Amino acid sequence: MIIVENLSKVYPDGTKALKWVSFRVSQGEFIGLMGPSGSGKSTLLHIIAGLEKPTSGSVFIEGKELTAMNEDQLSEFRKNNIAFIFQFYYLLEDFSVLENLTIVGELAGQKSPKKKALEILDFLRLSHRINHKPYQLSGGEQQRTAIGRALMLSPKIILADEPTGNLDLEEGKKIFELFLELRKQRGITFIIATHNQEMRNYFDRILRLKDGILEG
Ligand code: ADP
Repeated sequence: MIIVENLSKVYPDGTKALKWVSFRVSQGEFIGLMGPSGSGKSTLLHIIAGLEKPTSGSVFIEGKELTAMNEDQLSEFRKNNIAFIFQFYYLLEDFSVLENLTIVGELAGQKSPKKKALEILDFLRLSHRINHKPYQLSGGEQQRTAIGRALMLSPKIILADEPTGNLDLEEGKKIFELFLELRKQRGITFIIATHNQEMRNYFDRILRLKDGILEG
């Protein structure tokens, strides 16, 4: 599903964020990406998502080489395949929970975005919050809304960068359980960067980064 080959990233200031990183991920795997702060986790996720270019190396997703695509091809590919979940939810603050989801479907030209959004919010157990604005929600509810927004485009892969970094342990566990349910129901493949040791047991496999090097 995902093949990463010899990825290196050197930032313009000379920082070597990734050094010859290679690994493969199968469809439906639930992968943890762990390592100390500054070890290259975000850089790696951004490159796999096509949000950033590597200095050298390649990323293939379902046989397509992301690292060879231009910006238009990348954004089209991302839209149909990859969702990114951030530590900070980046919801539209003036919009309701429901609107935060429907706008994504509308922009993508979906026929009935409201119906789809309501189904997703029901799955996320947010039906009682659909008319709330983000500031009226708990952190966990905001993250569930951000996950709902990601699900509007039916991604095959979800990349998450410290998705529970702002939540307490109980809320964080609920997010991970939701991710596992999505893997089971929809076969979504996950790579989740976290430095939270409490979450280790959720993963099928853990990729460990240290100073930009994958330790296995
Ligand atoms: P992590 O997600 O594990 O905390 P990052 O991928 O954010 O690690 O960062 C890896 C290294 O690259 C760090 O040394 C960081 O300071 C550096 N870095 C990240 N982004 C940039 C950038 N835009 N310019 C220069 N250095 C960067």
